[in-house]
Amino acid sequence: MSPEQLRRYLNYFQDLGVKDIYRRAAPDPAPGPAPTPVELPPLEPAGDTLAKISEDIGDCRRCRLCEGRSKIVFGSGNENARLVFVGEGPGADEDAQGLPFVGRAGQLLTQMIENTAAKEGIPIHRADVYICNVVKCRPPENRAPQPDEMEICGQFLSRQLMALRPRAICALGSTAAKALLATKDGVTRMRGRWHKWRDIPVMVTYHPSYLLRAYNQSAKREAWEDLKTVLHFVYD
Ligand code: URA
Repeated sequence: MSPEQLRRYLNYFQDLGVKDIYRRAAPDPAPGPAPTPVELPPLEPAGDTLAKISEDIGDCRRCRLCEGRSKIVFGSGNENARLVFVGEGPGADEDAQGLPFVGRAGQLLTQMIENTAAKEGIPIHRADVYICNVVKCRPPENRAPQPDEMEICGQFLSRQLMALRPRAICALGSTAAKALLATKDGVTRMRGRWHKWRDIPVMVTYHPSYLLRAYNQSAKREAWEDLKTVLHFVYD
């Protein structure tokens, strides 16, 4: 592997939140022919498309989440979207329909996008953005995805984002923030300001499920502010 390939691999795992990499002790040099260098497949194949990524996911059995899922939730929306929302993982409604954010949290997300856009005079609807999740299969009991599940599915999220190349990404909640920004900070600390995934600006805000809890009035106001910032940045 060339130093440049190695650098890209390390960046890729850093983007996924991997902080530690261990190197095996070098074995004693054995006599005999030099080993053939291993050719690793490219992380983001040239000319990658959403259709190709979905085909590569196939009937995925790469992690335990496949055991309880009904449908893989790949993502949906405008393939030329300037803005991508990344959530955590499918819930029951999404698992049944194979589409992201179609349950109660999804209805709130739609309202947030459409009402904020209308109020700010930005002529977009939900169908103009792209929406996907960190993991594509529903975790049991709607638990948060585990690090190995995020790492395995993260390769497809990275490929989606590289294929879409939006002007900005909005990370909904702490799982999306962790996956994209390799941070341990909570949403309260991260929200309201710009971060970067590779060279793409990322705004972190509260997950709509969190906003559905009645006591989160101030979080609601803050999420609306975050969305306003994102929409103006992307569409002005
Ligand atoms: N919550 C998520 O994070 N994603 C969905 O698709 C639905 C609910």
